[in-house]
Amino acid sequence: MAYDFDLFVIGAGSGGVRAARFAAGFGAKVAVAESRYLGGTCVNVGCVPKKLLVYGAHVADELEQAAGFGWTLEEGHFDWGTLIANKNREIERLNGIYRNLLVNSGVTLLQGHARLTGANEVEVDGQRYTAEHILIATGGWPQVPDIPGKELAITSNEAFYLKALPRRVLVVGGGYIAVEFAGIFQGLGADTSLLYRGDLFLRGFDGSVRTHLKEELEKRGLDLQFNADIQRIDQLDDGSLKATLKDGRELVADCVFYATGRRPMLDNLGLENTGVELDARGYIRVDEQYQTTAPSILAIGDVIGRVQLTPVALAEGMAVARRLFKPEQYRPVDYQNIPTAVFSQPPIGTVGLTEEQALEAGHKVQIFESRFRAMKLTLTDIQEKTLMKLVVDAETDKVLGCHMVGPDAGEIVQGLGIALKAGATKQQFDETIGVHPTAAEEFVTMRTVTR
Ligand code: FAD
Ligand code: NDP
Repeated sequence: MAYDFDLFVIGAGSGGVRAARFAAGFGAKVAVAESRYLGGTCVNVGCVPKKLLVYGAHVADELEQAAGFGWTLEEGHFDWGTLIANKNREIERLNGIYRNLLVNSGVTLLQGHARLTGANEVEVDGQRYTAEHILIATGGWPQVPDIPGKELAITSNEAFYLKALPRRVLVVGGGYIAVEFAGIFQGLGADTSLLYRGDLFLRGFDGSVRTHLKEELEKRGLDLQFNADIQRIDQLDDGSLKATLKDGRELVADCVFYATGRRPMLDNLGLENTGVELDARGYIRVDEQYQTTAPSILAIGDVIGRVQLTPVALAEGMAVARRLFKPEQYRPVDYQNIPTAVFSQPPIGTVGLTEEQALEAGHKVQIFESRFRAMKLTLTDIQEKTLMKLVVDAETDKVLGCHMVGPDAGEIVQGLGIALKAGATKQQFDETIGVHPTAAEEFVTMRTVTR
């Protein structure tokens, strides 16, 4: 049967654009449907605008440090409207770049909501298209618990477009987004509390990292409330919001921001017209080559709920394009040792096993841990400490994990990711000459076993 397209991609986000462009580059006839915004979550309401706001908040640190270096500054004033307008301009520029990338690589771009009408058929705004392969790359969407007053809360989607910086913010959640946005709101001057339902936020990160970040955020005056869970939200007469916690306490704020995880975006996707099944958590079930339970349909990125990071969606998109149209170049995605950063203030950078994971996996471990005040702060009154930690296999000397909390942690950990992928040992770390004077050199000069 002759199809309209070799590949029909639903969703022009990180994974979808990568798969579409490379498939077209390999000679396939490709269409992409996008209902909302080119570049997806990362470009429009994720990584990119988030990092721009983090930079904005970080300026407050630079201003605070300036006096130590002899600078006298007039009292600063921050204007949220300017930051958001500049951010929006940059996002529009990136939308245009994504459009050009797709169109210039020969991909047919369809603007509109795509709905599967069969295993080889998609409908976009009433028009039906057939394709030999269909790729679902529809991403995710914020999930807010079903509590009374949930409609009064906002999520990251709305936070990027707030008209004004709220004066008082309650951030709910203890994952990446909660920690990052608590830093943004507080850094820009809002009176911010972070409420997390468990004992300590960032579950799954290394224990030393979690404790260290907690201490540093508290030093900065962020109000951290653990074992705190909101039962209901009510609007008061003056427009502010009252959050009643499960323990009976009441907190009043101008904005309640929920970052309690993301669900797969499957709304009106028409999966019922295909043989595509979901897994126990509600994500699209795929095999190791991203094939769903319907042979002609594949899925990648946040919608399969494996590792919800842009570089992972990109790698999966690449793998699908190669598998379908350049099989001789196919390489499976390596999910081991994925480096990642939390752009909190200070940021976290991490790659490999945490101490807890290494012990659980049966390794005998040696822990090297260092805490120090960064050189840049020595001329200031700021007492922030950087944490660096190596988890080493005591028997093989292999470095199993590298963890950091401190300035530029994300930048530093990228290179360490290559070292871990290459299977570097602690001895090879020790034999590497440091770059002096940097904080990063500490990773190759830690000699004393802490535990
Ligand atoms: P998406 O990028 O979400 O793209 C899916 C696209 O599909 C969207 O454009 C959507 O409009 C479209 N779509 C959905 N349904 C349909 C339909 N039926 N028809 C047509 N189009 C449809 N990751 C990092 O690595 N680093 C970070 O710093 C980082 N920061 C983040 C900050 C925030 C606030 C958030 C929310 C996420 C962040 N992420 C970060 C995660 C990252 O954004 C995602 O992992 C990544 O975007 C997933 O890519 P994807 O291709 O699976 O989906
Ligand atoms: P996460 O899954 O990282 O964190 C969700 C948080 O919400 C957890 O602390 C969780 O607690 C808590 N939570 C879940 N359900 C409830 C509930 N019903 N009531 C109260 N608290 C609840 O999700 P995020 O929304 O922060 O981010 C989504 C994903 O996006 C991340 O996992 C990450 O993959 C990606 N991302 C990456 C970034 C980066 O690379 N820098 C930045 C932002 C997002 P508990 O731990 O107890 O389950």
